[in-house]
Amino acid sequence: MDANCLFCKIGAKKIPAKLVLDEEEIFAFEDINPQAPTHILLCPRKHFASLHEASEEDAALLGKLQMAAAKIAKERGLLAGYRTVFNNGSGAGQSVFHLHLHLLGGRNFRWPPG
Ligand code: AMP
Ligand code: ZN
Repeated sequence: MDANCLFCKIGAKKIPAKLVLDEEEIFAFEDINPQAPTHILLCPRKHFASLHEASEEDAALLGKLQMAAAKIAKERGLLAGYRTVFNNGSGAGQSVFHLHLHLLGGRNFRWPPG
């Protein structure tokens, strides 16, 4: 855990959030500023800033985030489509530097993203 990291603190329940998943390796919570009717952030407990810092040994963990997002999407009936997004680096809009997967659903999305 990184003592200065917002999402590490949320995972450790030192900062409140609406948790939707609380597992050994990953956790997920509602985004505080939702950009769609469903907007959930899925995080590994292991702290790394972004995909730049991930390595081959993290591949299964990253897959777990995607599969957990798919499960939540199914449970929430996001049948029309949903989006899973990693923003990597400030140029891509990343503002919290603990890797997280956005799960967005419940509305239509445009392509390409802004
Ligand atoms: P990103 O810009 O990809 O780094 O995403 C960071 C996300 O974290 C944004 O969508 C924020 O709304 C969200 N966020 C920031 N602080 C909190 C918080 N305390 N609880 C829940 N979500 C947060
Ligand atoms: Zn962290």
